[in-house]
Amino acid sequence: MSNNEKIKVLISIPSLLHKSIYLPYIWGRLKTYVECDYDKHVNVEWLDPLYFHEIPDDIPECDVLGLSCYVWNWEKNLEIARISKQLNPNCFVIAGGPQVPYNQKNFFELYPEIDAVCYSEGEHIFAEVLYNLSNNISVDIDGMLLKTNPNKTRKLVPKMELGELTSAWLHCKDDFLRFEQEIRNQKKRVNVLLETNRGCPYKCAFCDWGSATNSKIKKFNFETIMQEIDFMCQLNPELVFVADANFGILELDLEFIKRFVRNINNYNMSRMQVNICPAKNKKHISNESLRLLYENKLAINSVVSFQHTDDEVLSIMDRDNIKVINSVEEVKEYNRIGIPSAGVLIIGNPGDTLSKLKGAFDDLLCMGFHDEIRLHDYMLLPNAPAAAPEYVEKWKIGYIEKMYLESPDRTPFKTRFIAECFSFTKNDYIEMQLYSSFIQSMHNLSLFKFVAMLAYHSYNVSYTEFYDQILQIPIIKTILDEVRSDLNEYVLGDKQHKFITYHNKMLNYENYIFLRCIENLDEVYQFDTYGKDIMELQRNIVVNGQPKKDFVLDYDFKRYFHNIQQLEINERGMFMPEKIKTNYKFKHFSVGPYEDIDTTNFKIKDITNKVLGRLTNYRHRITYYNNVLQ
Ligand code: SF4
Repeated sequence: MSNNEKIKVLISIPSLLHKSIYLPYIWGRLKTYVECDYDKHVNVEWLDPLYFHEIPDDIPECDVLGLSCYVWNWEKNLEIARISKQLNPNCFVIAGGPQVPYNQKNFFELYPEIDAVCYSEGEHIFAEVLYNLSNNISVDIDGMLLKTNPNKTRKLVPKMELGELTSAWLHCKDDFLRFEQEIRNQKKRVNVLLETNRGCPYKCAFCDWGSATNSKIKKFNFETIMQEIDFMCQLNPELVFVADANFGILELDLEFIKRFVRNINNYNMSRMQVNICPAKNKKHISNESLRLLYENKLAINSVVSFQHTDDEVLSIMDRDNIKVINSVEEVKEYNRIGIPSAGVLIIGNPGDTLSKLKGAFDDLLCMGFHDEIRLHDYMLLPNAPAAAPEYVEKWKIGYIEKMYLESPDRTPFKTRFIAECFSFTKNDYIEMQLYSSFIQSMHNLSLFKFVAMLAYHSYNVSYTEFYDQILQIPIIKTILDEVRSDLNEYVLGDKQHKFITYHNKMLNYENYIFLRCIENLDEVYQFDTYGKDIMELQRNIVVNGQPKKDFVLDYDFKRYFHNIQQLEINERGMFMPEKIKTNYKFKHFSVGPYEDIDTTNFKIKDITNKVLGRLTNYRHRITYYNNVLQ
């Protein structure tokens, strides 16, 4: 190729979701670096990137294809590479991103459609590739591996000085506005990514964040970020996802949030939510950021990523330097401000057992996560520390590989999940999965939440002990056996996903258990160890599709649960509800805080479609307790 010829470049970053599309920031970063920050001239024709969820029918022919690979788009990117090679057999395909399994010995034999792999920060390497290809110079450079020289010694390339880089958002403003319009024309949601720094001082075993973990934090230019925020506010996207691993770790981070808030008066930001991943140990800036976002309607909830609460498990995942006690402080602060928060755990951690997992649920319930506990299955990402052969060998890790579906309406992608290790077998893993779904349906979806809280606060019964009692109810055993048999097929057999059919609909296990219990409520509620009144309260406020009537009980549970809510985190009530005739009135028939759902005459399918079908963080408080108990 002569350097007078334009080199045609296509970047592929398929979005995870069909209806929610990220503007192609990575494309912008590469283009901006080549055009503004690279010290050599390259003549490039930047084709419009592939950033929608689907593979388009008309992929353009190109000279260089850059693939930005994540777990959800890896298979798709391989397909796009194959198509590009058919269109132009000389097309040079370079892959980067966390999902490229470049540590695999025979990588280039397994993926012949790929010519090179970048294992370092992408911008400079990509610019060098374009320059060298344009000038017929070898592209065998540091920071990447070539199909023609796969076994060369890998050299680490120094990290870039981000503060000196030109903003992709500002340099490619017109293109981003055009792409935004394209997404809106297709009636899809627009998401944008804000990057204020790169790097993370931690090295959690399950995490792969490019080459950015266990590294110093490098900052982008402060003023540039402020201008990027202004541009994003002007776009009014549905979501600004702040990609920093530890937002709030730097004092100046708060200024970015203040800029978003200040802009509310300047732009129409009616759709916008801002998501951050809070700093793990140093909390005051991230807490203050969340307070500002929440109070200004730029965030609706917060997420506290515990992953587990057991010291040994945390130590094996190399997370023992992230203190649970700091997360507890964070929860206290969210409670004080009134931000609903969800606690997050991982299933499949090396070192875990069913008993330890029960303990983690117990810890989160004691902290007050009564509405939302999220579970993630431990994905064995190819370049995460947990996938290193020494780690796998040390902890005797075994995995299952599945075409995984995150929800029934998403496109499946192939991935590996840890399903056994030195501390649990695959059968134990099935029991851990089952218990997690059980707790979510019984407690988070409120089948026994209030009875459990009474048992804990007034009868000195732990949540684990309480739910062990519920596990003995015959109909619940039957329902769990149905789920267990499905899980057996998933973990030990060929079943690819964790969804179970219910009235011709695919449901996750917790929703299935909930609905099967609702169908059999008389049998489920054959349990009065803690009194008939609390069971009556529970039955009256559970969402079960029956018309609701006001009711009277011999106890004042309104005051009781109000007082429970006032307790400090991890504090136990040790008081009883007052015995006094109390009227309970339905002020309205909406579910929890979601007044758009009229549940006066609910059918089971309405519960499925309108309540359980919502994103998990929208279905918290799925009972009538909000209006009955207040
Ligand atoms: S999970 Fe978060 S804190 Fe842990 S290494 Fe990854 S980015 Fe850093």
